[in-house]
Amino acid sequence: MLYNDPSPLETKVLTRLFGVPNSTSVETYVAHEGFAAFRKAAAMTPEAIIDEVKKSNLRGRGGAGFPTGMKWSFVPRNNPKPKYIVVNADESEPGTCKDRLLIEYDPMQLIEGMMIAGLAVGAKRGYIYLRGEYRYLVDILDKAIAEARAAGWLGTNIQGTGFDFDCYTHSGAGAYECGEESALLESLEGKRGVPRIRPPFPAVAGLYRCPTVLNNVETYCSVPSILRMGGEAWANLGTPRNGGTRLFCLSGHVNKPGVYELPMGFNLLRMIEEVGGGIRGGKKLKAVIPGGSSCPVLTAAECDLPMDFDSLKNAKSMLGSGGVVVMDETTDMVKVALRIMKFYQHESCGWCIPCREGTTWLKNILTRVYNGMGQKEDPALVHELASNMLGRTFCPLGDAAAMPTISIVEKFRDEFEAYVRRSPVTDLADIDTKIPVRA
Ligand code: SF4
Repeated sequence: MLYNDPSPLETKVLTRLFGVPNSTSVETYVAHEGFAAFRKAAAMTPEAIIDEVKKSNLRGRGGAGFPTGMKWSFVPRNNPKPKYIVVNADESEPGTCKDRLLIEYDPMQLIEGMMIAGLAVGAKRGYIYLRGEYRYLVDILDKAIAEARAAGWLGTNIQGTGFDFDCYTHSGAGAYECGEESALLESLEGKRGVPRIRPPFPAVAGLYRCPTVLNNVETYCSVPSILRMGGEAWANLGTPRNGGTRLFCLSGHVNKPGVYELPMGFNLLRMIEEVGGGIRGGKKLKAVIPGGSSCPVLTAAECDLPMDFDSLKNAKSMLGSGGVVVMDETTDMVKVALRIMKFYQHESCGWCIPCREGTTWLKNILTRVYNGMGQKEDPALVHELASNMLGRTFCPLGDAAAMPTISIVEKFRDEFEAYVRRSPVTDLADIDTKIPVRA
């Protein structure tokens, strides 16, 4: 065994109610210590709540990994404008499907997390923005919100604490771009979902230009357990600077794909072997996308590492949204690069040129290579084009398209070269006459 990881195989903290009958009801939630964290937080000062979240080393679970307590501390409490809590439930990163389970099986946990965030920053109203394809979750959430309201856990003077808070759902129209926080706010305000110039950041000028806390579903869902267990105990579940557990969405060529809650820092190879049951058909591991399709891929030789934000950064990749896509030795990496680029080209909002043009050109060149019409310059051209997009786009979607492409061309260059070596086309003008185009 290569890895040395003593972590337990299963750590059910956020998923503790998964599998419990009637887990979405307010009665079941209260019977399992639900809203105990809110009661505790209601007796604390806002500063003490934020300190507890800081101690937990909770980092944003949407992808960026920004420390949550620090983000909350940026909200100016003396600003007289209303403050808002916004939940990013626009889960659209390919390979990621955890937020939908958190909402489907335990919506009260999300509501309690929002309430505690409201106490911490002085917000009385929250919105849950869901991707358009999650229509069925809107119904689950609306029912949960109505139940919580009827039971006195939302509304005015909640449970005699003097705190007023209510929340509402909002369905997007199915655009990946609206998962970017400022585009999400535009969309939530009823406008076209394109990003805003920042600064100012949402903590200062977010929804309706008012101070706003905007976090991912899993991030809010982590907060009740932090308050219940104490920030330090929660931090100790993970690794230094990377507290708690993480919901990993294990997919691809493993025997047991699924969403697993594991401690932060869980070894990636062990995840594939012991949690995922190894590679399907006894084949060998070739590559892994460790945190959703926007992350640089890791080769099999790079996978013996702890799954936390810092370790993945050191490996020149990202923990991202926790979408772990496993690929076996039969995987065609040119096809992977093309599939990823087709997605980003389709989802580019067209607002800025490097992304709009870059993703289109990359898709066209990768299609040409995959269809057997590649030129010997194409691997280098793909690398150069993607590198020129990095850091030059208005929002992170440009980087999200460029980073996996660059890593695949760098790490699997031989596969691109094998494709172009097989190509009988020496002049692009010959394409139409010599090569049948693959679907
Ligand atoms: Fe739109 Fe892409 Fe520019 Fe983001 S990077 S603003 S998605 S065109």
